[in-house]
Amino acid sequence: MKTKHLSQRRLLLKLGLTAGVAGGLGWKQSIAEALSPNPSNSVGVPEAIFDAEDAAQLVLYMAKLAEAEGTFGVGGAIVDNRTGKVIKAMHNRVLQIVEVGEYAGKPYTFDPTAHGERQLVSWYFENAKRLKLPPPSQLTVVSSLDPCAMCAGSLITAGFNVGVVAYDYYAGINDDESFEFKGLPPRTRRTLKNHFGYYAVSAKREYVGNHRSAFSGTSVTSKTANDCLEIFAQSVDKIRKISQDSGLPPDQMQDPAYFSSGTQFIQQLKTNLPEAFSLKLKDYRRPDRDLYNYLRWLKSRTLRATNAVAFIDPFGNLIAASADTFDISPISTAFMNVVQRYSLTRFNLINNQQTTHLARLGMTAPKYGTFVFLRAPTPDETTTLKDLGAYGSTMEGPIPVTNPSNFLYFRNPQGGSVNGLLREISGLPPFYNQLVKISPQRSMS
Ligand SMILES: [Zn+2]
Repeated sequence: MKTKHLSQRRLLLKLGLTAGVAGGLGWKQSIAEALSPNPSNSVGVPEAIFDAEDAAQLVLYMAKLAEAEGTFGVGGAIVDNRTGKVIKAMHNRVLQIVEVGEYAGKPYTFDPTAHGERQLVSWYFENAKRLKLPPPSQLTVVSSLDPCAMCAGSLITAGFNVGVVAYDYYAGINDDESFEFKGLPPRTRRTLKNHFGYYAVSAKREYVGNHRSAFSGTSVTSKTANDCLEIFAQSVDKIRKISQDSGLPPDQMQDPAYFSSGTQFIQQLKTNLPEAFSLKLKDYRRPDRDLYNYLRWLKSRTLRATNAVAFIDPFGNLIAASADTFDISPISTAFMNVVQRYSLTRFNLINNQQTTHLARLGMTAPKYGTFVFLRAPTPDETTTLKDLGAYGSTMEGPIPVTNPSNFLYFRNPQGGSVNGLLREISGLPPFYNQLVKISPQRSMS
């Protein structure tokens, strides 16, 4: 819940007593903004914040909303460096509780890439023009927990300053607390150092990082920092207890290509993913010439695309495919597009009385299928850090022993060999290189 501390700040803002702190905002403007609820944010989000403790309490509040919704307790917000205005606050939405059908009442994967920070980056590019937002270099994304590889890659691709409250020793990009990002390639490391900052925790640790991040000169209380860590741990425990089911193993599934085309399931699937069933591989782990040509065609017809990715189910059906869509945002890579379109479609079909049964039988968990890249991601690009992170999140845990090579590519990375990419993977936090064990392999076709 909103704390007394925040309420007092809000009251001061309403009374116009904080004009000095609010900086560039004119007196009339701040009153007007204070009196109208922040239109783009949820209830309880203040209009502006003034120090690291305020920021930490806001993202903690967002993390609590996430925990209450049954997903991972992490929250974030975009703040204007100059005015402290809260432009947008969001929280993790990876899991959502299914309302109807065979999984009713259980959390189910909604979008494995829907971490708070990644969503904030996407939200920014969807709304920046319309809302005339300042460039990312004048904004800070505050996060309750150290961003994972996907979110870190998204934030630095966009050029945001970053302010972090609590460390994540397992999947956080600064997992060893050294602020060295050891093991990552040079350009990526430099960019992380230029954009990231870790707030001082009173009497415990100093501020580390980029001094352009908002509130870098102020500190967070130990209690708030601990609470940010606690709410995440609590949410993970809760999700484990409900025993989240990510989908049937392939030997219990049925090939959806043989479901009657008259079923609502197939009709809705084809509406959301028109490319579904357009190709069928003899072996889902052996992409053929047809798939290669299809991905080349997909890339060539999309302006500025440098890559295309397909998702093949365990029956060899092409279910989803996409090229990069950089006209939408610099983080809209082919891989992320495919994961999002597939996962959202699957969640909606699971969460529908008429389609839930066939969706459960016919739509695989991503980890049991195969992702086929036209070209392997190029090492030391910020979008590659993002895609490797998104791949880890999509796997949710170890790659199944029955499906060890579900990350395939036709062409080597730009610049030649795959060694640089493999080195980058080995330098990622433990979640990626020890648990998931990301292992891209070249397709032999
Ligand atoms: Zn993340």
